[in-house]
Amino acid sequence: MGRTAVVVGGGIGGLAVAIGLRRVGWEVTVVERTRVLDDAGAGISLAANGLRALDALGVGAQVRAAARGQYTGGTRTPQGAWLARMDGAALERALGTPIVGIPRAALHALLRAELPPECLVPGARMTALDRSAPGRVRVAYEHDDGRPDEAEPDLVVGADGIGSGTRALLFPDHPGPAHSGSTVLRALTKGPVEAGSDFEITWGRGTEFGHIALTDGRAEWHAVLNSPAGLRYPNPLAEMRRRFAGWHEPIPALLDATDPNDVLHHDIGELADPLPSFVAGRVALLGDAAHAMTPHLGQGACQALEDAVVLAARISEGPDVARALARYDAERRPRAQGVAAAARQAGRMGQQLAHPVAVALRNTALRLAPSGVAVRMILQHAAWTPPRLPGC
Ligand code: FAD
Repeated sequence: MGRTAVVVGGGIGGLAVAIGLRRVGWEVTVVERTRVLDDAGAGISLAANGLRALDALGVGAQVRAAARGQYTGGTRTPQGAWLARMDGAALERALGTPIVGIPRAALHALLRAELPPECLVPGARMTALDRSAPGRVRVAYEHDDGRPDEAEPDLVVGADGIGSGTRALLFPDHPGPAHSGSTVLRALTKGPVEAGSDFEITWGRGTEFGHIALTDGRAEWHAVLNSPAGLRYPNPLAEMRRRFAGWHEPIPALLDATDPNDVLHHDIGELADPLPSFVAGRVALLGDAAHAMTPHLGQGACQALEDAVVLAARISEGPDVARALARYDAERRPRAQGVAAAARQAGRMGQQLAHPVAVALRNTALRLAPSGVAVRMILQHAAWTPPRLPGC
C-alpha cells in the first residue's frame, strides 16, 4: 500500500513539500483552512537557494519564466545617495542566477499547478493531532461547513505558518511567535511604473522602503517601520505618502501608482525562541511553522523550499519515517535557525537602526566597504545545493 502524508497548510512551504512527497511516490493531502488558495501578499524575491530547491522539485523553469532577474539597484539613503550597489550579474556568475522577483500569487499558482486537484482540500482547518498510540498519528480537521474529518497517515507535515497550531500542539510550552519590533506595509502597483532599477532598499531612521520590479512592468513596494504591534492607520497609503514625502524617486512614483485598497499591513513576527526540534514522532514542522524569521534577508520562503526538498529526500531513503525525520531535523534546524538569527541581526543593523549617530556610522561603513561585500553576504545564505530527489 502507498504511503500517505497529510500536509497542514497550503502556503509556499506546504505546496512545495506536497510536490516533493508526491515526486517520491507518496499520496498527499493538503488541508488548507482558507477556501481561496491564493496568497494575497504582494511580491516575493527568491535567491539561488530557493530557485535550486524549486529546480529539485521540478518547478524551477516555470518559476524562472514568470520571474524577473534583479540585476540593478542596491541600498540608498532617503536623499537618493547610493550606499551599496546590487550586482546581479556577479551573483549570476557565482550561483547561476541573480535573485528573482515574482508576484506571490504567480508563485502559488505555479506550485498548485503541479498538484492534482484532489490532493488539495481547501476550506478545512486542522483541529487536533493525536499521538497517544506509539508510532502512529491521527489528524482531525473540520471543513468550513462544520463537517468533521480525520486521517491516520504515515506522516503529518505542519506547514501552517507563523501562528502554527501544529507547533503549539507539539510544543505546548514554547512561547510561540514574538513581535520583531517592526511592521510592514506593502502593495503591488496597479500597472507598469518606471522603477529605475530592479531592486532597491532605502534606509532612513528605523524605516526602510524597498521595491522589486516584476516582469510585467509592475513593482511591489514595501515599507518597514519600527512600530509597536497592532498600530494601524485609517488611511495606510496616505500615511505612507506623509512618511516618505521628500524621499528620492521612484518612491513617490510607486506610491502614486498604488490603489489605496491594495495596501496590506502586517506586524512582523518571528520565532525568537528557537524550537528544540522540528519533529516529534511522525510529525514534522516546516517553513514558518518551524522557523518564522524576519524578512530582512528575504529568506523565509527560500528556507521553506529548502525544508520541503530535504524532507522529501530523507523520506525517500527508506521506510523508517522516524529515522527520516531525525535526519531532516539534524540537517534543517541548524541551517534555518542560523539564517533566522542572521535575518534578525540584519534588521537590527539595517532597517531598525534609529539613532542618528549609529545610522551615520553604518552608512559610512557601507559606503567604504569594498565592492563585492554585498554579493558575499548574499552568497553566505544563497549558496546551497539541494539533495536530489529520486526520479527528478
Ligand atoms: P504560510 O505562507 O504562512 O502558509 C501557511 C498556511 O497554513 C496558510 O495558507 C494558512 O491559511 C494555513 N493554515 C494555518 N493554520 C491552519 C490550520 N489549522 N489548518 C489548515 N491550514 C492552516 N521570503 C522570501 O524567501 N523572500 C522574500 O522576499 C520574502 N519577503 C517577505 C516579506 C514580508 C513582508 C514577509 C512578512 C515575509 C517575507 N518572506 C520572504 C517570508 C515568506 O513570506 C514566508 O517565510 C513564507 O511565506 C512562509 O511560507 P509557509 O508556507 O511556511 O507559511
